[in-house]
Amino acid sequence: MKINLAKSAGFCFGVKRAITLALETAKTQRSVFMFGDIVHNEKVVKQIQDAGIKKIQRLSSGKNKTLLIRAHGCSNQTLKQAIKLNYKIIDATCPMVKEIHKIASKLENAGYQIIIIGDKQHDEVRGIIGQIKSKAIVIDNLSNIPLSRIKRVKKAGVVVQSTQNLDNVLPIIDRLRAYIPKVAFHNTICNPTRVKQNEVKDMPLKNSVMIIIGSQTSANTKRIYEISKSLNPNSYRINSAEEIKKTWLDKAKNVGITAGASTPESSIKEIIAKIKRICSA
Ligand code: SF4
Repeated sequence: MKINLAKSAGFCFGVKRAITLALETAKTQRSVFMFGDIVHNEKVVKQIQDAGIKKIQRLSSGKNKTLLIRAHGCSNQTLKQAIKLNYKIIDATCPMVKEIHKIASKLENAGYQIIIIGDKQHDEVRGIIGQIKSKAIVIDNLSNIPLSRIKRVKKAGVVVQSTQNLDNVLPIIDRLRAYIPKVAFHNTICNPTRVKQNEVKDMPLKNSVMIIIGSQTSANTKRIYEISKSLNPNSYRINSAEEIKKTWLDKAKNVGITAGASTPESSIKEIIAKIKRICSA
């Protein structure tokens, strides 16, 4: 049986950069802290914790402490507060996320109501909300558009969480255009996400089984899985080799494998090795 691994499987450049910065910081600084997890992957989080970086819920005195800003970014208010409290800042925010921050601020300054298409509870979306002074409208799907608010907007500046699926975003834009006279739409889905999603629009059609590797908490893995499942019902989302079931592979001629942007190479390798063992048994 042939195993086809997606070219884009695994870490994107933003995640690689954030992990490298975190590990370098841990080597040179004594007390390093961050809010929440560096990326949405348990193995990576453990690696960062093992390097000595501690997770915090709130800021305290920052004297002789370093605050690492995660790949998803943070609000302006958090950053300002950390600087005021004397934290040394190491900013691992992905440049693609920074770009969304810039676009949102620019649109707000030009008088646009900011609309963010993305998961309301996701850290990246919270970080974007925290870049602007006015209240952003967040829309997570087509059936959840707050029409009473939208109908009062005269001009809207729309940005998108970097890991959204454009196929879900475009119908939302069409709906907004039906109610808002002027809509400035910025497709801020990042390039690594586009490449991953494009690959997974093809692979499920060419492979009997699709395995999508990533944490249950990873938004981009979830979306890759949803695309794959819609094209091939034999699509499975797993995070470790132990989760593979032999029955998935029984009649498979070939298996396509891809992985979310925060999935480490070691997880991909373990899963490929397990599939090979099952098939040669
Ligand atoms: S998924 Fe995109 S925005 Fe997020 S860290 Fe990777 S490159 Fe940056």
